[in-house]
Amino acid sequence: MKIGILGGGAAGFFGAIHCAETYPQHEVVLLEKANKLLAKVLVSGGGRCNVTHDCPDNGLLVQFYPRGNKELRSAFEKFSVKDTIAWYKKRGVILKTESDGRMFPITDNSETIANCLLDAAREAGVRIYSNLQQVRLYKNTNGFTVKVKDEREFHFDRILIATGGFPKLEGFNWLKELGHDIVEPVPSLFTFNLKDHPLAALPGISVEKAEVKVMGTKLIQEGPLLITHWGLSGPAILRLSAWGARELHEKEYKFDIMVNWLPNFKEESLRAAIDSFKEQNIKKQIQGQSPFREISARLWKWFCDAASIPDTLKWADISKKQLNVLVEKLLRSIFPVEGKSTFKDEFVTAGGVSLKDVDFKTMQSKKCPGMYFAGEVLNIDAITGGFNFQAAWTTGYIAGISMGL
Ligand SMILES: Cc1cc2nc3c(=O)[nH]c(=O)nc-3n(C[C@H](O)[C@H](O)[C@H](O)COP(=O)(O)OP(=O)(O)OC[C@H]3O[C@@H](n4cnc5c(N)ncnc54)[C@H](O)[C@@H]3O)c2cc1C
Repeated sequence: MKIGILGGGAAGFFGAIHCAETYPQHEVVLLEKANKLLAKVLVSGGGRCNVTHDCPDNGLLVQFYPRGNKELRSAFEKFSVKDTIAWYKKRGVILKTESDGRMFPITDNSETIANCLLDAAREAGVRIYSNLQQVRLYKNTNGFTVKVKDEREFHFDRILIATGGFPKLEGFNWLKELGHDIVEPVPSLFTFNLKDHPLAALPGISVEKAEVKVMGTKLIQEGPLLITHWGLSGPAILRLSAWGARELHEKEYKFDIMVNWLPNFKEESLRAAIDSFKEQNIKKQIQGQSPFREISARLWKWFCDAASIPDTLKWADISKKQLNVLVEKLLRSIFPVEGKSTFKDEFVTAGGVSLKDVDFKTMQSKKCPGMYFAGEVLNIDAITGGFNFQAAWTTGYIAGISMGL
């Protein structure tokens, strides 16, 4: 049997390697449109490649996937984070875990991962073609034909589509024509812009834990929050952008958010903490010291300014109204978001081939027999932390071991 793999990224390579290893009797050919193989692996994780996330519990792992969590539950039983770690270890690549759970090769170099995949593919006998530029796929009665630049043709009995995501719906037309439903692609993982907002005068200031809510929706996330010179970023915002990718796209990235800067306090306990601090510092200036270790001196000054508390005002002289505004700002600051910015260069697209059209036991299309899918071409995406690659390894593996049956 002749098996084709379209796309030389993480999912395509993993699928090709496992297919060629599982079925040495079949011919496995990988076709890459661009001149560089594994280009995203090489730039990923700031050049270090965040291969996976230290999360051995599959039930917990799926919670990091705004799209695909239901389908990946059973897929991770077949190839989990533990399997990823073991697979690389078997090939001499040791992964280390950072304090936030992200896993990288101990070399801190993404070339280690790319070279490992290239070596494994060659050893398994995968034939690799790159720089094919124009790649067109045709379905015919006895399989698939792929025409590339200079009109060269390849014929396959089965084919794995591992072409990654496309930013526009039109990019998926060729898969739509073969009967697949496509979920419109929209960006995921972005930061929030606050246009000309005074908060942006505090870039670099962060809080360890804030609760951020998108007003008028059910979207809510808790986690570290970072002020940037254009608005708000940090894990709490990135998670909101991932879970709210479609809803926020529909709002054209214009909405209000409510930030609770001290989510560990209820209003009553917050007022009690301020009262106690006030009693102990009654003769001191309010702006002089933040009563909360979670709120830095500069951020505290911003809250005082927002509550119209002058530099020189002492705790003894704070009015009830000023105190109420302070509490309101600490627990319920409202910010108007006007637009988004890409998080570093790391963009992920939500959307792609509808998961309803794919049998996750094998990754075979339910609409086009003989066609398989893996990686970001599917409507699967996750927050940052190594989860997107884990989905590519898992779906690539399942497709690879199923395609030659
Ligand atoms: C800058 C950046 C950094 C990232 N860092 C991380 C990270 O550290 N950890 C993490 O988990 N995720 C990270 N991600 C996300 C991760 O890179 C992707 O989820 C992952 O690469 C998806 O793998 P894939 O094989 O499905 O697609 P891709 O890596 O996009 O590979 C698809 C390949 O198919 C080729 N192709 C497209 N169309 C055709 C065609 N018709 N014929 C033949 N070939 C075709 C493309 O040229 C490409 O080489 C990052 C993303 C970006 C953009």
